[in-house]
Amino acid sequence: MEELSSGSSDYAASTWIAWFLSTKGNEYFCEIDEDYILDRFNLTGLNTEVQHYTYALDLITDALDENVNELHREQIETQARILYGLIHARFIVTTHGLAKMLEKFKRADFGRCPRVLCYQQPLLPVGLSEFPFQSPVRLYCPRCEDLYRPKSSRHGALDGAFFGSSFPHMLLMVYPHMIPTKVTVLPPPISIAQKQYGGVSADILHQRAAALERRGECLASAGEETDQSGNVNDRSLDVSAPVDFVYERVVPRIFGYPVHETSQLMAWQDRQQKKQTATITNFRQQKLHSGDA
Ligand SMILES: [Zn+2]
Repeated sequence: MEELSSGSSDYAASTWIAWFLSTKGNEYFCEIDEDYILDRFNLTGLNTEVQHYTYALDLITDALDENVNELHREQIETQARILYGLIHARFIVTTHGLAKMLEKFKRADFGRCPRVLCYQQPLLPVGLSEFPFQSPVRLYCPRCEDLYRPKSSRHGALDGAFFGSSFPHMLLMVYPHMIPTKVTVLPPPISIAQKQYGGVSADILHQRAAALERRGECLASAGEETDQSGNVNDRSLDVSAPVDFVYERVVPRIFGYPVHETSQLMAWQDRQQKKQTATITNFRQQKLHSGDA
């Protein structure tokens, strides 16, 4: 095996890719499958993005001629890193690439959201552009849907194009179970708001109503208050269960005073929630009484 130019690291890796991945600051990258790199179709157009393209590709695949002089080799090395990054952006939106990045996401290799109400949500890297040298990598939080700069300056210097602008969304579309539940609820559009009651979706409300009906029948037949149906664990049967889901959210304040427009909107939302909670409570009581009768 050809001895690799070790750069800043003295780690003796068996392949260029293994060395590249083990270098400090490259923790966001996953290992691209060799088959993927060797398939020239996957690299279409990259020859115009990178100088010394052929040499750089040879270096990545450990096929670079040993007789290349030292100065030239350094330039090739730099280009090889860019080429690897650009191939990486294409690879991580393939099925296999997404699976590899999912494992890194689960391990929180890209860090966690600094926002308190995101509860240590793991982040995903994202580029703001598909082209190199436009903007550095950013980290996307699927819970608050905001972007952050990486903590480490090494990661902060990575090019966003090495991850692409579609990666987080592609990953969450392929693995929808990884989409975190939103704790903070944004005001829904009016049409949706009309279908919702205090943050409880119409579906859940119908389920509860059906459960209450069942309970009503059950009580009528049993003729007493104790619930013998065996559905003790069914929370929807518990009439004393709180109807109102408590939203956890930040109220933006300046010198302790809520910001005017936002607080107005929030006050409106709170009023709507109270109204809808009252409606649900009335609805339940009516149901229960009709069941008792
Ligand atoms: Zn967040």
